Amino acid sequence: MFKYLRVSVTDRCNYRCVYCMPEDGICKEAHDSIMRYEEMLPVIRAAVETGVEQVRVTGGEPLVRAGIVDFVGELAKISGLKDLTLTTNGALLDRFAEPLKNAGLKRVNISVDSLDPENFIRITRNGNLSDVLRGIDAAIAAGLGPVKINTVLIPKINDHEILAFADFAVKKGLSVRFIERMPFNADPAGEPTAFISEETVLATIKTRYQLEPYEEPSFGPAHNYRIPGSEGRIGFISSRTAPFCHLCQRLRLTSGGYLLPCLDSQYGVNIRGMNSEEVKAVIARLFSEKASWRKNRACFAATFDNSLSKIGG
Ligand code: SAM
Ligand code: SF4
Repeated sequence: MFKYLRVSVTDRCNYRCVYCMPEDGICKEAHDSIMRYEEMLPVIRAAVETGVEQVRVTGGEPLVRAGIVDFVGELAKISGLKDLTLTTNGALLDRFAEPLKNAGLKRVNISVDSLDPENFIRITRNGNLSDVLRGIDAAIAAGLGPVKINTVLIPKINDHEILAFADFAVKKGLSVRFIERMPFNADPAGEPTAFISEETVLATIKTRYQLEPYEEPSFGPAHNYRIPGSEGRIGFISSRTAPFCHLCQRLRLTSGGYLLPCLDSQYGVNIRGMNSEEVKAVIARLFSEKASWRKNRACFAATFDNSLSKIGG
């Protein structure tokens, strides 16, 4: 059964990253169509009863949703849940890192696409790099490690920063994971979604650092390397050049109440109003259907008619 559930608590975000959202934002869910936490919790408990062991809270930006710390606290109480993590753009993490740790959060992934303040604004359209750097330090200080940085590279925008990110991994003793940019509806129509491949990044980093491959203990699609002589790590999520649909064990719960077995939302099932037994039956059905079609699929070949901020990245 599914081992891993991503829960998108909101489709709202305080940033407008160029590869994730159009400039004027996405078409937001109406307030009353966003699931209340009290609706989400029984669904997540039911998922854990079917075999989910890891939950990642995401969005949109999870830290802009009111009540997020108490929600994480409720998730931490679910027996059978082995890992509880959160993905954030880090803008508000300085304030939230310690309360989240105290509520039972284990680790955070923080998305950072530039280490240059001007370029950071260009990519996020309204972000402030120093807030995020403070957020990273706060996460490390609060014990939310090992901290992973997620970085999406875009040709001619931030691909000149690859070595700066490798230096950052070494300096801070953390892991930087390069995510190959995927095609979503933020992209201009008719143009292929340009991305930087794992191969290019590896070749660039090897001009400065030796890289040693290693396996992470938990299942995941990342290709991982350590930088000898430091705590720095480099990882790759290579959905374009090494699609991992055949390995995928992910289930998603969107803020609008859909369970998705895939980034492709046509497979989603609206579970609002269902009781736990009905939710479990949906999860079992989605898992068996997915097992039958995922072997041959390359989800990342097509442009998704959605945004990761809505689906839950
Ligand atoms: N707002 C939070 C953040 O940025 O970390 C959580 C949600 S965001 C949708 C989750 C992850 O999805 C981020 O690491 C972001 O870089 C990634 N993402 C968004 N759009 C993407 C795309 N087109 N291709 C690859 N990754 C993408
Ligand atoms: Fe917001 Fe995250 Fe999307 Fe950037 S990647 S716009 S921070 S949801």
